[in-house]
Amino acid sequence: MKTDIEIAQAVEKKPILNIARDAGIDEKYVELYGNYKAKIDYSILEEKKNEPDGKLILVTAISPTPAGEGKTTTSAGLADAFHRLDKKVMLALREPSLGPVFGIKGGAAGGGYAQVVPMEDINLHFTGDMHAIGAANNLIAAMLDNHIQQGNALNIDPRRITWKRAVDMNDRQLRHILDGMGGKASGVPREDGFEITVASEVMAILCLSHDIEDLKDKLSRIILGYTYDGAPVTVADIRAQGAAAALLKDALKPNLVQTLEHTPAFVHGGPFANIAHGCNSLMATKMALKLADYVVTEAGFAADLGAEKFVDIKCRKGGLKPDACVLVATVRALKYHGGVPKKDLNEENLEALEAGLPNLLQHLENIREVYGIPAVVALNEFPTDTEAEVRLVEEKCRELGVNVVLSQVWAKGGEGGVDLAKEVIRLIEEEENHFSFTYPLEMTIREKVETIARRVYHADGVIYEKKAAQSIDQLEKLGYGNLPICVAKTQFSFSDDPSLLGAPEGFHITVTEAKADAGAGFIVVKTGNIMTMPGLPRVPAAEKIDVDNSGRITGLF
Ligand code: ADP
Ligand code: MG
Repeated sequence: MKTDIEIAQAVEKKPILNIARDAGIDEKYVELYGNYKAKIDYSILEEKKNEPDGKLILVTAISPTPAGEGKTTTSAGLADAFHRLDKKVMLALREPSLGPVFGIKGGAAGGGYAQVVPMEDINLHFTGDMHAIGAANNLIAAMLDNHIQQGNALNIDPRRITWKRAVDMNDRQLRHILDGMGGKASGVPREDGFEITVASEVMAILCLSHDIEDLKDKLSRIILGYTYDGAPVTVADIRAQGAAAALLKDALKPNLVQTLEHTPAFVHGGPFANIAHGCNSLMATKMALKLADYVVTEAGFAADLGAEKFVDIKCRKGGLKPDACVLVATVRALKYHGGVPKKDLNEENLEALEAGLPNLLQHLENIREVYGIPAVVALNEFPTDTEAEVRLVEEKCRELGVNVVLSQVWAKGGEGGVDLAKEVIRLIEEEENHFSFTYPLEMTIREKVETIARRVYHADGVIYEKKAAQSIDQLEKLGYGNLPICVAKTQFSFSDDPSLLGAPEGFHITVTEAKADAGAGFIVVKTGNIMTMPGLPRVPAAEKIDVDNSGRITGLF
């Protein structure tokens, strides 16, 4: 069996200018990054502003196993299937972070015969957006510490600085650091730390900005910490928004690439789905909607995390309305929810498979009843699935009135997704859409968190640790009470306990921390132990990655 990178390297790519032309993008908007990557200037949105929007299709998943369940793969294959049906289609995905690429999960350009290419470039540096975001983040950090060093006119309390430095790497060594050491000339010593770039607020802001002015406005509202009197200190206070936005001017432009079957794809922006909102940039999604009749996009992790934030943060802020939703499920993940440990997932186990179905059913019910979007389950077929297992899922779903289609895009590319694409078109054309948000913004922060916990997680309620309760009271007082909520939670469970698989009942969510990402425009509510700087595993994926004299990369997956 060929590896992902071998499949990707064997395909002859079309010059990106041709892909752009086929997508209806005039050459004057195309900024080439070599032959197969380009940035598209946002001024195209002005030219196309009176054109109607295409249909928006969200790909999400059941609660995943640690390896990921194939949302990106399904998204790429589904877009290729639309392409095969001669529909005008575009894909809009997130760009990968080097953290997972070198860690456990690997790349994020799809898999098998459903990928975006050039996958090596997309997974490694790509067009440099991550570095630009890191630079903007760190410029703000440097200006903040410099302000304190130069006399601290703003009266900033160095013990209450919330802004962290950022690097796009899984590097736990930087999670908690002491800096400013070395005497008077070398800064003011303080406790500090790094976040991975995709967890930074600058990334979230880039992904939610409509244009440069909006970007600057959002940057200026970032809260960096507090004064000795408890007043928030913002980026505007240290006058860093102009220079930070200048660093981001190209990063804000969507990156155009292609799938293995030459379907145009935007791969742009990549906020984490636990600590941030987990969706590609609003700019890319909006551009794709103006260019194509069908836009396939993915939200990170499962439907209780990525899809909830897609609905309540991205759609709300961008005025988007999803037309259909694809819920990706795998036999492996269902068995995992039925109690099979990760190492035994490749063995047939019909009993566990059936026992895992409640996870799927609860996600599907949420999509239909809470978010109000017509939905289909895509069963993403793995080579290890047995015929009996696939049949069982299909039968059980049919018995329960669940719409399920087998997806074979990993093995067959677009051809393996044609049935899925036809079902998605049927959903859009025939089923009623009752799209709505999970909660209204006018609720208090606590009411909003409770509403998400009860309606989406099916929890009995929410417990607030003292520190979190104090922060929430303070945020309400400071006037941030009307922002949407970005829950930071484990992706493995509906609850905040990663070991509660399936569709758990009788649990409470515990909120440990709350903070305002006032620039991005949401309140981050942390539950459980969520890291903003991951570490590498015992055997990092990086150990297998290599490059030869011709520049050919191997070992990426
Ligand atoms: P997600 O977007 O849900 O995190 P990905 O699409 O990135 O998941 O897939 C995760 C990994 O699983 C990738 O390495 C991909 O190649 C692999 N994968 C996805 N679908 C299949 C499949 N049907 N058969 C085998 N491997 C698959
Ligand atoms: Mg993905």
